[in-house]
Amino acid sequence: MPHLPTVTSLFLVLPLLCLAEVNQVQKVADDVYFHEGEIRPSGHCNNGWIIFEDYVVVIDANFPSGARVILPKIRELTDRPIRFTFDTHHHGDHAYGNYFWHQNGSTPVAHVGAIDEMKKYETGHFGAAPGRWEEAAKGRKDVAESKLKAPTLLYKTEMIFDDGKHRLELLHFGTAHTHGDGWAWLPKERILFSGDACVNGPYNYTGDGDIRDWIKTLEAVKKLQPKVVCPGHGPISGPELLDDQQAFFQSLLDEVKAHLGKDPSKMEATVPSIMANLKKNERIARYVGDFLMVQVEKAWTELGGQPWPKLDIPKTKK
Ligand SMILES: [Zn+2]
Repeated sequence: MPHLPTVTSLFLVLPLLCLAEVNQVQKVADDVYFHEGEIRPSGHCNNGWIIFEDYVVVIDANFPSGARVILPKIRELTDRPIRFTFDTHHHGDHAYGNYFWHQNGSTPVAHVGAIDEMKKYETGHFGAAPGRWEEAAKGRKDVAESKLKAPTLLYKTEMIFDDGKHRLELLHFGTAHTHGDGWAWLPKERILFSGDACVNGPYNYTGDGDIRDWIKTLEAVKKLQPKVVCPGHGPISGPELLDDQQAFFQSLLDEVKAHLGKDPSKMEATVPSIMANLKKNERIARYVGDFLMVQVEKAWTELGGQPWPKLDIPKTKK
């Protein structure tokens, strides 16, 4: 097949961008693929992969069960070795499959901040009290049967894969969803893989990040001017996804600011009205969901409010 210019290729795949296709391989450009993971009940994240001349780079390791879904799908397309697995961040649904990929010849790669986060939360792996891995293993057979493999190939500012045809840049723009969010950017095709620093739906877990920094980080990322954004969860989208995600957080902060000065014990009762207000905005309504209570409290404490009493909601990422 003749090689198509990038813009034409993107134009041809644009209809794909409108479809939510869970568990389907979606070709985004020549040699560049996206796979929307099944969130319920599997808890899987989205994946991407890029087929270079000598090897394949996979975006996100997923849970071990998610990695098992992806590997045969890559093998249907190429027999080139899968050499690198890029953890966009330290969360289990993005990094706990590292050992599986490693067993299949791949080295886990991440921004240095992802290792710092792992040291904070994966205490069991680093020789202290049981941490998140051990907690997840109680409820997930795939985790219980595997082991944690921390990334061993790290970058501070960027890491570049370039075979002359494709260029993949692993970048970092500051704190957002976590303190170690990596972004995978293909400048020629203008395709961006965001991990959970940008999602498409009610999946914004705010516990390990900073909402105000997140808004600034998204502003910096927008300067890349992507044509396609492949989020960490939810369907593939155009560049407007970065704006929508940012608008959600800005609106959340604005809503919470209006309550500053109130007794923290009264705040939980305000969440339904905040939810109703946020849902009125069509652009951000899809981001409003189960995490809202935790998101509102996080915004409140970031803005200087005292923690709420008796917030009976799990605060750790499973
Ligand atoms: Zn995450």
